[in-house]
Amino acid sequence: MVFKVGITGGIGSGKTVICNIFRCLGIPVFEADLETKKLLDEDKSVKEGLIRLFGQGIYMPNNVIDRKKLASIIFNDEVALQKVNNLTHPVVREKFESWCMLQHSPYIIHEAAILMESGFSKLMDHTILVVSNTEDRIQRVMKRDNVNREQVLERMSKQMDDTKKIKLADTVIYNNQEILIPQVLNIHQNLISILNKKN
Ligand code: ATP
Repeated sequence: MVFKVGITGGIGSGKTVICNIFRCLGIPVFEADLETKKLLDEDKSVKEGLIRLFGQGIYMPNNVIDRKKLASIIFNDEVALQKVNNLTHPVVREKFESWCMLQHSPYIIHEAAILMESGFSKLMDHTILVVSNTEDRIQRVMKRDNVNREQVLERMSKQMDDTKKIKLADTVIYNNQEILIPQVLNIHQNLISILNKKN
């Protein structure tokens, strides 16, 4: 089985940027959040489950999920969020495991915003947390998503605190003023030497 590295971090921390550096080193990245979004439109069992939970109106007439409606339901309803997660997580996990079987790199990366919260971190052999200060994250997301400060803060408030996540992670990457490439190269080399010792 391929060695699995989970990367997580709060909204706007820089996960995607960092994963792109790993990609440049030839490391394949499974984008769990993107895969989850795709399932909502493409997976029969997930679609049927969502219709059972929220009615046919959760899909638009063109059969595409009404993202705004779903977001507004789950944003303030923990139970509904849990039910949606119960539908999607097993399917994402299956997809991830099949994807892993096809990879031939020394290790792979699983990128997810809620790696720790979802329990997916337990499937990983190593976890990396991307930490960045709150103000930088707010500014980046406002610019990237064209949203206001309050909207970013609202999204942030739903995520686990970095102080808790730091305790759970094996490695931390700091993305404030620090230069990213040397940090990623260092972690890559450490992972390769861990793997060489294992084999
Ligand atoms: P999300 O969880 O919201 O998907 P993310 O952790 O994947 O966020 P990125 O998309 O990588 O975060 O970064 C957020 C934005 O900030 C992007 O537009 C990215 O280009 C920019 N960004 C990330 N790191 C830096 C940095 N060190 N300097 C300048 N811009 C940065």
